[in-house]
Parts: sequence; structure tokens; C-alpha cells
Amino acid sequence: MASENNVLKMLLSRVYKAMDLLNIKPGYKKYLCEPRKTIEVAVTVKMDNGDIDIFKGYRVQHNTNRGPAKGGIRYHPDVDIDEIKALAMIMTWKCALVNIPFGGAKGGVKVDPEKLSIRELENLTRRYTSELIPNIGPEKDIPAPDMGTNAQVMAWILDTFSIDRGYIVPGVVTGKPIALGGSQGREDATSRGCVYTILSALKVLNIDTTDLDVIIQGFGNVGSNCAKILYDLGFKVIAISDVNGGIYNKKGLDINKLLEHMSKKKTIVGFKECDSIEGSKIFELDCDILIPAALENQITIENAPKIKARIVAEGANAPTTPDADEILLDKKVFLIPDILCNAGGVTVSYFEWVQGNDAYFWSKRRVNLQLRDIMEKAFYEVYNCHKEKNIDMRTAANLIGIGRVAEAVTLRGIYP
Ligand code: NAD
Repeated sequence: MASENNVLKMLLSRVYKAMDLLNIKPGYKKYLCEPRKTIEVAVTVKMDNGDIDIFKGYRVQHNTNRGPAKGGIRYHPDVDIDEIKALAMIMTWKCALVNIPFGGAKGGVKVDPEKLSIRELENLTRRYTSELIPNIGPEKDIPAPDMGTNAQVMAWILDTFSIDRGYIVPGVVTGKPIALGGSQGREDATSRGCVYTILSALKVLNIDTTDLDVIIQGFGNVGSNCAKILYDLGFKVIAISDVNGGIYNKKGLDINKLLEHMSKKKTIVGFKECDSIEGSKIFELDCDILIPAALENQITIENAPKIKARIVAEGANAPTTPDADEILLDKKVFLIPDILCNAGGVTVSYFEWVQGNDAYFWSKRRVNLQLRDIMEKAFYEVYNCHKEKNIDMRTAANLIGIGRVAEAVTLRGIYP
């Protein structure tokens, strides 16, 4: 993303704050912040018109001390190496926070997937995968969907990897279609996890769940499923934005109708029964819960003072800048930090990996119950740490996540 808002630099400032509180020795601090492996590949694609195009692809494996590297693959025109390094590091702390046996990774291709035909998208995915084959696998590094990628993209990765091996390797990716060994409940797991943390927050804050207004930025996998789950629970989703603009209805949007509109138009814009609003303005509206579920660096020093929400639930990764954190703290906004709030996706990815390894598949009910257990346990660990140590929720989450990774690193020692 934009260098003046370098997401890696901002993340490192928070990580150092937590590492100082944990009294981690300087050498280990350096080790914890450095990715173990950084891979850059040229993704060469034959386009439909016969031209050859080359896209930059990355995979960063940040830390593998607690288990194989795990993290999504992003297709977006703004992908850059610092962003991928930051997101890989976030995955390390996130997996440790919810205590699943994975390290952290992230991948990305600098491309606008909307501008590719389906065939070009498949060619790009297969070429990117083939460049990464030596570095990925069920015991090494397991990709999953992120912005701009989905279950179909995972199916192409699985196929490319499996053709290379000569047999099907379902465990090479998670977030794949159920027909190929995907897990029940994976599609909306990130959002379901996000909602479990919001319900826990409402409980500790003694806020009654009736008649609460919600605003969501982003209407992709995370945003749309958050909207649907909250709507079904009786929350009023009053404003939503996507990359094309925003919509607002004080009385609440009909999310079922909006999903229908979305499936036809591929954007929320043009939906009837609401007013249009500039996408960036939705943060300023009166609401109880704000869910950024799009990109990094969306809550900034400029718009944080105007936020009226009582709870900010970070569905997206790194949506809030450190300056904005301070402003939200001053305003006593209750923050559910990204590594806690959106950990439901990787948690059900872990369930998918376990089910694949066992070749035994769980019911949706079991997936959702076990997801709730993990999310609630993690929420209360973070909340109690925030209360006991009198630190903010983000620092508390980092303290637990980084602390677990630091313990694993210390126990294993530095080789040789
Ligand atoms: P997605 O590609 O499915 O959807 C992204 C949404 O954001 C789209 O609706 C898009 O229009 C919107 N958007 C893009 N730029 C925007 C802008 N400037 N203003 C408003 N909206 C904008 O992506 P996703 O999988 O839903 O991921 C969203 C965020 O959640 C990312 O930060 C991702 O890293 C994080 N996340 C996703 C998962 C997952 O399981 N998909 C898990 C954990 C975290």
C-alpha cells in the first residue's frame, strides 16, 4: 500500500511495544520480526488476446516455530512486498492467539482480478502456484483465500499442486470447495468468528443486543457474511460501502435483498430502498458497531475523530493506523483487534486441515460450536489481559500472540 502509510512500519511499532512489555531480548526481537522466507516470482500469463503479461507474485513465510506456515493469497492491484510481509506477520500472531498449531504466511499477486477473464485468472493462478510448488504443501505452507481470491482459486491451486505430485493433495490449501475436501462453515467462518467476538464484547460492556445499528465497510466475503449473520440475529445494518460507493438506510437495510442485488450487479451500488452515500462517509454516521472489512489503513488520524461507534470490530487486517488507535482509545471506543476479530477464518481452516488429515468430515454444527469455543476463549483471554494489565485490547492481543511464539522460539533455540 502507499509508502507514507506503510503497513509494515506501523505493525512493527505495535509489535515492539508488546515485545518490550514481554521483556524479550534484543536478538529474539529481531528474529521475531524478520520473515523466515520471502519469495518473489514473475507470474507470466498468456492473455486472451495472445499477448504475454507478467505480474509480480509474492509469498512470505514469516514464522514456522509453532507449525506450518498458514495464510491467505491476495489478488489486488496495490499488493506490495511490505504489505505481504506485514500480513504474514499478523498471521503468525493470530494463529498463536487462537492457539492453533500454525505459523504465519501471506501471498499476493499484484493484479486487478476484475480485469481478467476467468481463463486468464486460472492461468495466472496455476502459473503462480507452479512457481511456488517447492515452497508450499500441507506440512510446509498452506494457502487460503483472501481479498480477490476464493474457493475456485483454491481449487486451481490444489489441482496444479496435485498434478505435480501425481496424486490429490487436498491439504495443500484450505478454503477449498466442499466437493474437494473443504470444510462446512469455512465460507462464512471469518464473519461468524467476528460476530462471536462482537457478542462477547457486548456482554462484557453490558450492552443490550436489541436495536443496535451496524456499519460495515466492504461487502466481500467478510463484510457480506457479517451483514447477513448480524441481520439474522436482529441487528440493524444501516450503512455499507464497497469499492464503488456506499448505501445508507437509517431504518436498516434488507440484507437478503441486498445479497440478491449483489449477485446480479457485483456491487452494492444501485440498490433500491436506501440513499447513496460517499463510501468514505459511512465511518462518520451514528452507529453502535463499526466493522471495517475491506483494506488496511482505513481508520486514520483524519476520520477517527469523527467515528461515533461504541465498538470497532476489525474484520479486515490492519484497518486502523496507530495514530487512529490513540484517538479511538481517547474516545473510549471498544476495539476488537484484527488478530482476534477475524481469526475465525484461519480457525476453520485449521479444522479443514485436521479433517483432511483424518479423512473424516465434521457437521456444520460441530464446526460452528468449536469455532465459538475458540473465539470466546481467545476473546476472554485478551479481555482479561487488557483489564489485569491495564493495557489496550490490541496490545493485550499482541502480548498473548507474540508471547506464545516467543516461548516456542526460545524452547526450540536458534539453529545451529
Ligand atoms: P473480498 O475481496 O471478498 O472483499 C473485499 C471488499 O472490500 C469488497 O466488497 C470490495 O469492494 C471492498 N473494498 C475494496 N476497496 C474498498 C474501499 N476503498 N472502500 C470500501 N470498500 C472497499 O475480501 P475479504 O476476503 O472479504 O477480505 C476483506 C478483509 O478481511 C481483508 O483485510 C482480509 O485480509 C481480511 N480477512 C479475510 C479473511 C477471509 O477469510 N476472507 C480472513 C481474515 C481476514
